Amino acid sequence: MSLELPTCEACKKQLTYKQAMKAQRFTYEYTHCPHCNEKQFVKTRKFGYIIIALVPAMIIGPNLFIDIAIVPFLIYLVIVTSTFFALLPFMSKFRSTWNSHI
Ligand SMILES: [Zn+2]
Repeated sequence: MSLELPTCEACKKQLTYKQAMKAQRFTYEYTHCPHCNEKQFVKTRKFGYIIIALVPAMIIGPNLFIDIAIVPFLIYLVIVTSTFFALLPFMSKFRSTWNSHI
């Protein structure tokens, strides 16, 4: 499993971290490539689904097994959520058409 930033399928150029972060708009299912301005559909990678599944488990998990005071838990929560947001650009990939597989 490698961490890769999304690559535009039209011009084959990879987005920078900042550009990929900007493309993460959950209300839209597509974005425009910052290089060639081609419409690109934003799809979630397998890696993204793993992280999305892992985050609630990481938040709820420790509470089931150990007694954590509220303050350390809140700090932990901030670390988990900020890590999640920092990884967002790596969770998506671009496709020129919505239906193309993988
Ligand atoms: Zn492009």
